[in-house]
Amino acid sequence: MNKPLTITFGALNEAIGTEFRVAITPESSARLLKAGIQPAIESAAGLKSGFSDADYEAVGAKILPREEILGRSDAVAYISLPDSSVIYSQAKGSFAIGLFGSLVNKNAAQQFESAQITALDLTLLPRQLSKAQSMDALSSQASVAGYKSVLLAANEFNAFFPMMSTAAGTIKPAAVLILGAGIAGLQAVGTAKRLGAVVYAYDVRPAAKEEVLSLGAKFLDLSAYGCPDFSAGQGKGGYARELTAEEKSAQQAAVDKAASNFDIIITTAQVPGRKPPVLLTKAGVDGLKRGSVIIDLAASALGGNVEGSRPELTIGTENGVKIIGAPGLASTAPKTASNLLARNIADAITHFLKDGALTLTPDDELAVLAISGVKKTS
Ligand code: NAD
Repeated sequence: MNKPLTITFGALNEAIGTEFRVAITPESSARLLKAGIQPAIESAAGLKSGFSDADYEAVGAKILPREEILGRSDAVAYISLPDSSVIYSQAKGSFAIGLFGSLVNKNAAQQFESAQITALDLTLLPRQLSKAQSMDALSSQASVAGYKSVLLAANEFNAFFPMMSTAAGTIKPAAVLILGAGIAGLQAVGTAKRLGAVVYAYDVRPAAKEEVLSLGAKFLDLSAYGCPDFSAGQGKGGYARELTAEEKSAQQAAVDKAASNFDIIITTAQVPGRKPPVLLTKAGVDGLKRGSVIIDLAASALGGNVEGSRPELTIGTENGVKIIGAPGLASTAPKTASNLLARNIADAITHFLKDGALTLTPDDELAVLAISGVKKTS
């Protein structure tokens, strides 16, 4: 049975440019209503994810004008950091929740603070906490991106992925290398294996090796290419640490050498809050076979894992290699990505609903999500 409705939770139409996702779906609306939260959605917000206004209304969500959602909601859900004009249109004292990337978007906190909004950044989630697992939007979106990266590579590649014996001869399988075997990387490993490629993966975290092997892929041993072992230097919370300048160049030299054995290279390596590490340099790209395809999921305005990659661009090199900068691939399976993200967001906002009001207390384990903190009194 649904709890009595206490607060309104809005979502805007953010599906612009290469963004197709929506932060509240009909499925998550039903969960929110059960918890006593009234979802309010801007018209057409879900269309690109496959959800019509009628689909929302059928489960009890309201379709309201943008100004009303911003001006009257107790909280607003966002896919990513909104423009400051949107932030300043939200009701003072209300909440905002989404993937704000505040470790790299340095002015995010200050904007919410001066607009008197309490902003909860899901990129700061303590992912190892068991109660936070269902709110882990970084993992859910990385998983979709990892899956789509392989499909994109397969589509751009000029040959088959699987080995095939035909009357006209035997077709060699594609050799795929995944650099960074975290959430996106492991999903890419599994997907490339299912398509029949020969798959290798590499990560600096020693725990990643077992995971790669358990998916039936091989772990790329960079020591065979002269790279030292970094396993002693695991970072905080199970994450990779940033390598020293010497370690970075040793790693790059080894990756550059190893890369020439592969047709497809998918890079996913991140270090939280920092510029992504360069794993493959121009020399490595130049050593690849004509027709090879590189997908850089870490491509960003700050740079990516591959020298020369650019976000949302496909660059053809002189030696016939395609470098595809693809940081937004989660958005290319918008129905799945939106449903997962909206579930993450719904569970997180519900966590902060206490006695009919959104409440943030310093002793709350998830108070670390708050990047600006105006006390909600109602
Ligand atoms: P991420 O997106 O920050 O990085 C992707 C991968 O790149 C990571 O596996 C990282 O080790 C790797 N990487 C970073 N620098 C590298 C370098 N120089 N060379 C090679 N690889 C490099 O990470 P992610 O995928 O979001 O998560 C990584 C890890 O975080 C997980 O595998 C897990 O250990 C931990 N995690 C834990 C939980 C949980 O406890 N529930 C949830 C999510 C993630």
